[in-house]
Amino acid sequence: MFDSYLRESIIGRALKNKKISVSFYNPRDFTKDKHRRVDDKAYGGGPGMVMYAEPIIRAVQKAKGRPVLGAKRAVKKNVKVILLSPSGKKFTNTYATTLSKKYTDIIIISGRYEGIDARVKKILKADLSMDVDEVSIGEYVLTGGELPAMVMIDSISRQIEGVLGKEESLEETRISSSEMYTRPEVIKHKGKNYKVPKVLLSGHHAEIEKWKQRKHKKS
Ligand code: SAM
Repeated sequence: MFDSYLRESIIGRALKNKKISVSFYNPRDFTKDKHRRVDDKAYGGGPGMVMYAEPIIRAVQKAKGRPVLGAKRAVKKNVKVILLSPSGKKFTNTYATTLSKKYTDIIIISGRYEGIDARVKKILKADLSMDVDEVSIGEYVLTGGELPAMVMIDSISRQIEGVLGKEESLEETRISSSEMYTRPEVIKHKGKNYKVPKVLLSGHHAEIEKWKQRKHKKS
């Protein structure tokens, strides 16, 4: 599920240039029974299956142990654990920036089915003293944590130095407007002309900035 997205464009380039690295840990590889089960019925009843805590905890321990990207010798790791959940705190750009600045490694736990045994969070926090946040990417329920994980990987990565090219970084710091235009200047559609606003063709930078700010405020 991740391969095609991570291979593309800016994130693909960042991985190739070793600005970021992404590793995957399948809970099934951390099971101890021969059927490699990762889920079971919920105590107290209810629909759907719940993911076992222990394979996930072992996977997190393994992920925590891997060396820091690009480090020649041991570097003190600063690891954050994110437990994806539709009822977690809302993921924002500000939070993505904080994560990118504060941590060397981010472990994202992606659930499926009805979710994950609540003891994962308790054990990671209490016994392994890990820094854990429950995070939601929005007020809707998806079938699994894969898309939320990709959303987080994308938005955190673009905050890391060298991930965006010069032009792209510059764009980040500019006020962007909610309305953008490119060629052609006029589009004829069903007898009507749809034109680019005159000010954008004027070459008058101060006026263009004013227009962009106005549009930005409205959005
Ligand atoms: N019963 C769970 C609840 O209401 O919290 C829903 C579980 S959901 C079907 C399965 C998994 O998808 C979750 O464990 C989480 O990893 C992921 N997920 C679904 N929606 C999400 C969202 N909006 N933000 C983050 N993760 C989400």
